[in-house]
Amino acid sequence: MKIHFWVAFLFFLFSLNPLMAQNGFKIIPLGVKGGLDESNLSSYLVAAKGSDQYICIDAGTIYKGLELAVQKNIFSETNPIIIQQKQIKSYLISHAHLDHTAGLIMNSPSDLPKNLYGLPSVLEVFKNKYFTWSAWANFGNEGEAPILKKYTYKKLIEGVEIPLEHTNLHVTPFVLSHVKPYESTAFLIRNQDSYLLYLGDTGADVVEQSNQLDQLWKSIAPLILSNQLKGIFIEVSFDNSVPEKALFGHLTPKLLMREMKQLNNYARGLLNTVPLYVTHLKPCNNCEVNIKYQLQAANEQQLKINYPEQASVIELY
Ligand SMILES: [Zn+2]
Ligand SMILES: [Zn+2]
Repeated sequence: MKIHFWVAFLFFLFSLNPLMAQNGFKIIPLGVKGGLDESNLSSYLVAAKGSDQYICIDAGTIYKGLELAVQKNIFSETNPIIIQQKQIKSYLISHAHLDHTAGLIMNSPSDLPKNLYGLPSVLEVFKNKYFTWSAWANFGNEGEAPILKKYTYKKLIEGVEIPLEHTNLHVTPFVLSHVKPYESTAFLIRNQDSYLLYLGDTGADVVEQSNQLDQLWKSIAPLILSNQLKGIFIEVSFDNSVPEKALFGHLTPKLLMREMKQLNNYARGLLNTVPLYVTHLKPCNNCEVNIKYQLQAANEQQLKINYPEQASVIELY
């Protein structure tokens, strides 16, 4: 009798398993480039593995990315507008540059009410520049009247983790330097005890005369040592031929590798266990080919370098 009970109980637990949230992440890039092609600009859907309640990290492109994902049968729903309305639960914006916000602004009329998370400096731009009646319409919950209250501004505080409503995810923001004194953000996303790091646009510490990246590397290195960091998304916008004074707060292959060396030191050589996704390549005459070649040539640390593709599924766990 007793044994039967335990067998039944275990069976019950196993049957629950698919419903239980799992460690790790599902990521669907809606846009991956750093300029020019307005149908493919930085925007990443992230959900806890086993869930389809997404957050949207940066929002340069939304509609086109969803349309392409539908064509590839990534969603069971086939209308991009419905997917945006129902499956994107909130937005996290690293900084307010248009290549990270245009998709959110352009698609705001058909979206449903949700939270918009960002540093105060980022939310100010939405409030004072984009969601105004001269530039568009005030879809925010603050600022110029009449206030449509579609998006609720949620201020992030550096280093403080908060839960992201209607998902299993949490976020801790870190400030980045994107041409001093302008700020960008790195988001450390947590699902249970697994983590994902996404960096918005950033310059290298040596160029920005900053220690923001160094601080970030120190903070996340323990997660590499404990095998909890499942991936890093970081930008390389230009190839090595662009002089430092013309980088405008971006990385080159050389500067990325210098930063990764620093992180790898803190992680005692284990950085090559973490997949690295290089984002925000700026299309120009042969730039993308050059960036990939130069990263490969400089990869003495045997890092696992990948390039996210628009409308694909990346599973990290
Ligand atoms: Zn950008
Ligand atoms: Zn930018």
